[in-house]
Amino acid sequence: MKNALFHFKPLEFENMFSTDEDCLRFLAEEKWKDGYVCKKCGHTNFCSGKTPFSRRCTRCKHDESATAHTIFHRCKIQLTEAFHLAYAVCSTPKISSWELSRKLEKRQMTCWKLKKKITECIEKHGEFQFIELPLNSGTEKQIESGV
Ligand SMILES: [Zn+2]
Repeated sequence: MKNALFHFKPLEFENMFSTDEDCLRFLAEEKWKDGYVCKKCGHTNFCSGKTPFSRRCTRCKHDESATAHTIFHRCKIQLTEAFHLAYAVCSTPKISSWELSRKLEKRQMTCWKLKKKITECIEKHGEFQFIELPLNSGTEKQIESGV
């Protein structure tokens, strides 16, 4: 079971991800559960970085935020809202961006974009994934032309 997150009942979910900090901690734990490896130089020692739950390589000083390389990287809305949107999309795949927009009180376009990202992720991996897996080099082009 890779991502049991969306098997939570709504109330459990609510309690687990009530603050942005909860979400960041969760993403950091998911991302580095097999240990930290610097994306730039491959070093495995780190200290804490600039932002909460980020990690900084002690060799090249590359700072990786908790959201980098996750589906919520550069997300326009608050993380708690993004988590709620993902939860809604996973539990109700047919939910419209209008409904999401009303629920979260966010612009419809913002919801539409994030929903699209989540739906594409589910289609690609067969399930929701927080962490963006690196595509095997070489297969990237084939996927593009297959659309
Ligand atoms: Zn490094």
